[in-house]
Amino acid sequence: MKRQCIKVSKKKGEPARRVLLGLEILDNSLKIGSDETFLYLPLTRELVPEEFESLPEGSELTDFDFEPIEKKPVPEVLLGFSPAYEVIGDIALLEDENLDAQTALKIADALLRTQPNIKSVVKPLTPVIGEFRIREFEIIAGEPRTETIHREYGCRYKVDLARAYFTPRLSTERSRILSWVKEGDTVVDMFAGVGPYSILLAKSKKPSRVIAIDKNPDAVHYLRENISLNSAKNIEAIEGDAREEAKRFAGTADHVIMNLPHSAHEFLDSAVLLTKPGGIIHYYGMTHEDDLFKSSVELIRKAAGKAGKQVEILEKRVVRSYAPHQYNICIEAKVI
Ligand code: SAM
Repeated sequence: MKRQCIKVSKKKGEPARRVLLGLEILDNSLKIGSDETFLYLPLTRELVPEEFESLPEGSELTDFDFEPIEKKPVPEVLLGFSPAYEVIGDIALLEDENLDAQTALKIADALLRTQPNIKSVVKPLTPVIGEFRIREFEIIAGEPRTETIHREYGCRYKVDLARAYFTPRLSTERSRILSWVKEGDTVVDMFAGVGPYSILLAKSKKPSRVIAIDKNPDAVHYLRENISLNSAKNIEAIEGDAREEAKRFAGTADHVIMNLPHSAHEFLDSAVLLTKPGGIIHYYGMTHEDDLFKSSVELIRKAAGKAGKQVEILEKRVVRSYAPHQYNICIEAKVI
């Protein structure tokens, strides 16, 4: 397609491109042309003389035969609206719980046709529930499975979403926890799931020991697989109740990770028992906006007090919004 353009030496191509972008005159629907020496930058309209003068020296106005940029199809174009979904590994989870069957199928079809990385589309039938924090799913289209491998910060996590908890929404939080842990530390991950905290820590921080506990046998099955999948060293995967296991590892932990936000408060005595003097509890909670941290801090202090210890609060933060007025929070508490 013939179009007026700026011909400029390859050396000056990037500054010229930036000028045209700034003037909002670069035609993004066409591929930039080139030959051995020059670049050809397509224009959406004629340049006025002042605009031309702002280009690098040696720029010329000419015509060139451009190729159009092929636009990748996107689900929005096929559907006429933006579907809400989350991708875990190669599985898309439809997020709108009120979707009727026909719309769910339409969205699934659009996702499978436009997103080559998605192989299966599922719809959660329940919220995250029960002691093991899992959901039931309906397979809408694609490969009939809920098992996948999710990649995060260079690690791979195999998980069956219907049998064990996993969410990519905590990835930033997991990377934040890294900054607290030092080489040689002992970490107890009381509610380890398929291992995204434990494995990331073991791979990145050279801890002397990571004790990863979970009560859900399916989660521990995947945790063990993920330890070998990531060749992670110094992790012990334990299937058991964190409260019972805490007695075996009393006084060993530099860090205790309590990622069971709905009921972590019930396990605070065990977390205190696990910590070395000066050890840090990473406490997760679900709290109301009117009382983001106060009650949780009191519970931590109370648990420490029962064991004759004190607590220094090192950090309090909101991890994410969870529901209207409800927040997932984290408190870092040093036990002295
Ligand atoms: N930390 C993991 C992650 O980020 O994916 C999993 C977090 S998930 C919210 C909480 C986990 O705690 C679940 O895998 C559940 O099976 C486990 N759990 C619940 N009660 C437990 C208990 N009493 N002892 C050990 N694990 C428990």
